[in-house]
Amino acid sequence: MLNRGFSAELRRVVTFTLLCVVVGLLNGYLTWTLIIGGALYMAWMMWQIHRLDVWLQSSRDQNPPDASGIWGDVFDNIHRLQKRQQREKDRLKQVVRRGQETTAALREGIILLDRYGNIDWFNGSAVQLLQLRSQDQGHPLVNFIRHPAFVQYLERKNFELPLDLPSPHSEAVRLQYQVTNFGLGEHLVLVRDVTRVHKLEQMRKDFVANVSHELRTPLTVILGYVETLSMAPDVPEKWRKALDQVEAQGKRMSSLLSDLIVLSKLETDDSKTAHKPVMLKPLLLQVKSDAEVFSGERGHQISLTCPDDLQLLGSDKELQSVFSNLVLNAVKYSGDHTAIHINVSQSSLGVNVAVRDEGAGIDPVHLPRLTERFYRVDNSRHSGTGGTGLGLAIVKHALLRHGAKLDIESYPGKGSTFTCIFPIQRVVAADAPLAYKSRAIQSER
Ligand code: ADP
Repeated sequence: MLNRGFSAELRRVVTFTLLCVVVGLLNGYLTWTLIIGGALYMAWMMWQIHRLDVWLQSSRDQNPPDASGIWGDVFDNIHRLQKRQQREKDRLKQVVRRGQETTAALREGIILLDRYGNIDWFNGSAVQLLQLRSQDQGHPLVNFIRHPAFVQYLERKNFELPLDLPSPHSEAVRLQYQVTNFGLGEHLVLVRDVTRVHKLEQMRKDFVANVSHELRTPLTVILGYVETLSMAPDVPEKWRKALDQVEAQGKRMSSLLSDLIVLSKLETDDSKTAHKPVMLKPLLLQVKSDAEVFSGERGHQISLTCPDDLQLLGSDKELQSVFSNLVLNAVKYSGDHTAIHINVSQSSLGVNVAVRDEGAGIDPVHLPRLTERFYRVDNSRHSGTGGTGLGLAIVKHALLRHGAKLDIESYPGKGSTFTCIFPIQRVVAADAPLAYKSRAIQSER
């Protein structure tokens, strides 16, 4: 169906043509009259286009020029579109303004990075926390947070966990960075001031470390006396049982304190200065032989497969503690005369050290919490194992310090496999000088 403007224009053309025909017939120059009429119509059309052009180039707020027929429709439609676009623009501006007001009110700093890691935008809190200025936009964020750990965090692109670091402007302030991917390779960096939480956490660690140290000496004295007393020949029989109980519980407390001290050292000591090439095979042979002694008459069959010259960069004491905890757990939680396999495998991704047992296994519901401090699957069942519930927490922390992680696979009734996954960066190249390696290990012992 034709719209109104177009029908009016059509009527105008037909009327004008008929008029030209009549005038042409009257003056005897029909063809010329029609040509002149057509030229006039074309000129009028050109004039309307010129008006449209002038109007479009002028300010958007001006009303469209008056016109009838198809040109009236064209002007009105364009004007309506302009008004709709303006309304949409105003709405979007309002949304952006609200967004900016909301992010400005946030206590967290927000920084948007483009795909090259340059600062695109930041809110008011980012200005306070990192002292950014508007002229810093377009510059790489790593120019303002130069801490190597932050640079590595951005480069690795693994943003599962946040990163806590001292503020670039004050050692006393602790900032937490959490990065989220968005858009096409862009990033959103959330910056939080976690000084208070960090201080509390530090106090907790110090408290645990101090209490453990302070309790150790009196406990050693008590245990010493209890041991002497229980060895005395004239102790009445009714007290002997009580003394044995005190001694057993005292020893349990002592190993609890030792584990707490190890754990708090791992948590508080940030330095990785002790990291040197460590030969895995001799270390695991030692762990294996300790576990065989621990197993004693229970007769576990412990096997070890490990490449002869494989070395990891790390602390031999911490690695020893990791593997020893896992292998002793395998002994503790699996039946007599069952097999335990320690298997070391190397790939282009890194090194895996797996400890597999044929024990009772662990219900999958417990797996996510197994590395928490004092988490034990079944306290009553394991009360006789002499465990403290801190072993796997120590394993987790020591592995974290080596950039490694623990993978646990377990099938109730069939057994468990605890695998330490070390990244390739931890593997020492096979052509590194051997003399240096063995000297380094001995000097640490
Ligand atoms: P614990 O000192 O009690 O052994 P851990 O932190 O080493 O503490 O282990 C936590 C819990 O995980 C243990 O109490 C035990 O229930 C379970 N566990 C650890 N290793 C094994 C294993 N190899 N097989 C079965 N259960 C295990």
